[in-house]
Amino acid sequence: MIGLIAATAAGRRTAERLCGAWPDTRRYEGPAAAALPRAFAECDAIVCFLAVGATVRLLAPLLGGKRSDPGVVCVDEALRYAVPVLGAHAGGANELARRVALALGGEPVITTASDAAGCVALDEFGADLGFVPEPGSDLAPVGAAILSGERVTLTADAAWPLPPLPPNVVSGQPEPGVPAIIVSDRTGLSDCVSPFGSSGPAVVYRPRSLVVGIGASRGVPAAEVSALIHEALTDAGLSPCSVRLAATVDLKADEAGLLAAVRARDWPLTVFPAAELAVVPVPNPSETVRAAVGTPSVAEAAALLAARGADGGDAPGALGHTTAPAELSNPDSPGGPGEPELVVAKRVSAHATVAVARARPRGRLAIVGIGPGARDLMTPRAAAELRRASVVVGLDQYVDQVADLLRPGTTVLATGLGHERERAATAVSEAAAGRAVALIGSGDAGVYAMGSPALELADETIDVVSVPGVTASLAAAALLGAPLGHDHALISLSDLHTPWEAIERRITAVARADLVACFYNPASGERSWPLRKALSILAACRPPETPVGWVRDASRPGEAVSATTLAAFDPSGVDMRTLVIVGSSRSAMVAGRMVTPREYRWAAPS
Ligand code: SAH
Repeated sequence: MIGLIAATAAGRRTAERLCGAWPDTRRYEGPAAAALPRAFAECDAIVCFLAVGATVRLLAPLLGGKRSDPGVVCVDEALRYAVPVLGAHAGGANELARRVALALGGEPVITTASDAAGCVALDEFGADLGFVPEPGSDLAPVGAAILSGERVTLTADAAWPLPPLPPNVVSGQPEPGVPAIIVSDRTGLSDCVSPFGSSGPAVVYRPRSLVVGIGASRGVPAAEVSALIHEALTDAGLSPCSVRLAATVDLKADEAGLLAAVRARDWPLTVFPAAELAVVPVPNPSETVRAAVGTPSVAEAAALLAARGADGGDAPGALGHTTAPAELSNPDSPGGPGEPELVVAKRVSAHATVAVARARPRGRLAIVGIGPGARDLMTPRAAAELRRASVVVGLDQYVDQVADLLRPGTTVLATGLGHERERAATAVSEAAAGRAVALIGSGDAGVYAMGSPALELADETIDVVSVPGVTASLAAAALLGAPLGHDHALISLSDLHTPWEAIERRITAVARADLVACFYNPASGERSWPLRKALSILAACRPPETPVGWVRDASRPGEAVSATTLAAFDPSGVDMRTLVIVGSSRSAMVAGRMVTPREYRWAAPS
């Protein structure tokens, strides 16, 4: 919930406007001195239509901590600026300021250093992977060291798909006195650096990589389960902060001692039917356990099975697994890449068993459509993915187009035209090596672009997210009018990968079906015969006055838009940077705009 606080009539009017537009807002009436503390206690974020100074005075006695305080944004009386004054990152105030500025036509005033330098802020680093900086981490000094270009070491004990860090952050072991970033579920690795022992400042992230499997017999005391968990983690040098969840068999879902031990640690508990556990290959099966609960292993099998579905990521969709659950419990599937590892084999006490599995991080491939050209036709999500990636792969000219968006330290792997297979293979192998990769394409990256060659190569061990983009056909259609108002087909006239006979068969089908046709790759150099041929096939089935529109460089410098009829159209001016749209027999020019009617019989009001 976003609380809105206003002190003046103009502020109140704007607050009312925002409240009407955003469902997640609530206005706090009355004097700001009383309203702000109430909003501070109740809201995740606050927008104050109030001077920064006045807001700061009111906030001062309320401040708790970076992680718990709401983000606060001040907006000036003239609505020119939205200023995050509290909780820039953890409180979401930077993001909220951008959102408010966009809604009110003002500008966000971002003052956090990492944002100005384009680096990921350490308090947000790996947040979508479930990383949380360990309490006591030296966020400020390590952050300052990164921004001032000092040497900083990055030590990660697994290939996490991390966001990029600037080149002064070097991968390797911690060095005495050198600021360090450590990503590890092992306590030993961090013991050698401050605040855990040595002289340099350090930020330690605990990836949520571990799953504790627990078996128990009836009436097990909570203290016994708790002690066994503690010993298992401590002896193996594993941090309890890295435990993502506990797992057991469904028969034990109401076992009080087990539940109490898990609850005391605030871990979620996941349960599996015995039949699912029974097919998980484990090193220490027991026939006695099989006879009692129907699976030869509870602790080891539950830990391994739960770890297959847990990579520590929290972003829904973004890091979702593509492996079907049925496949997960296939006993024949060997432990390959992406398979969890049993880091603590079954440990036994009088009434309990415990085992610990480690989920393997998965590489991340984002297939990102950057739109037809203009920056404001690129989606915010595409921009966010470009900044999330540590490796960006694409055609050189497209990579150049987005270079200003990339964070410092991003590896750019650009190649020229004709290297599509190679680009796809590079992107997939970089993701398979555990990196966060963005493979970019113009328009939508899945439409005559890199999406399909990449996904033909990608296996189930990497996570894939696709960000749709505004295609050339949509951009061109918008410039021409509404030519895609009814059924239409996209056809590429490039016979580089498709035999011309197949292309011609499809054009004939489109002609017969009276579909609007969008021609991609309509010509190259002197090669205009495919378009001429395509037009003649369509002309056989639709009237000579059928409108034809074509757009060159839609939303790019030199954009050109034209429309004429099928009879009058001269394809010689069309090149590879053009998209041609031929109307159906129902399309028409209306006031100079190309329109394909929707043809619905609109329901009469009853
Ligand atoms: N993935 C892209 C298509 C790439 S195929 C998309 O979704 O739009 C390349 C062809 O797309 C070009 O030959 C041209 O026909 C068309 N095209 C791409 N961008 C264009 C633009 N800005 N203006 C006009 N046509 C464009």
